[in-house]
Amino acid sequence: MHEFALVQNIIGRCLRVANQNNASIITDIELEVGDFSLVIEHMFQQSFRTLKKDTIAETAILHIKRTPGIIHCNSCNRESEIWWRSAVQISDSKYQQSLQKYEKSVTPQDVLTGNSDFGKNLFQCLYCESNDTELIKGKSIVIKNIKIKS
Ligand SMILES: [Zn+2]
Repeated sequence: MHEFALVQNIIGRCLRVANQNNASIITDIELEVGDFSLVIEHMFQQSFRTLKKDTIAETAILHIKRTPGIIHCNSCNRESEIWWRSAVQISDSKYQQSLQKYEKSVTPQDVLTGNSDFGKNLFQCLYCESNDTELIKGKSIVIKNIKIKS
């Protein structure tokens, strides 16, 4: 998976911010991880433990908050929450094919920007059951907060 490259990028960003603020230590990094970013948390934490060594984030704790996918419905204009786990259980072959394709093709860059066209006309609106929907949130990782000491 892409956890290592992702964490590398995230730590790089945090170190830059810390540096700009003349910090001597990063104590906490808080992330919001979209449920459709396909991040496996224990692998993510493992990569973090390896990559933070010999940096000012060496003792930092990585906090991960999982956030749901949000689909926007073009039929009724409402938004519904969905979770990866429930999505992968949908047995419809169209879902399964798209999920597999997405799993194979998603890159760290896609995850950090949320830019991938995965999730169009795929999930059912919870209000009107239309499939004219788009996954508008939940594909990306957001650095929510960095705690530093100077
Ligand atoms: Zn709808």
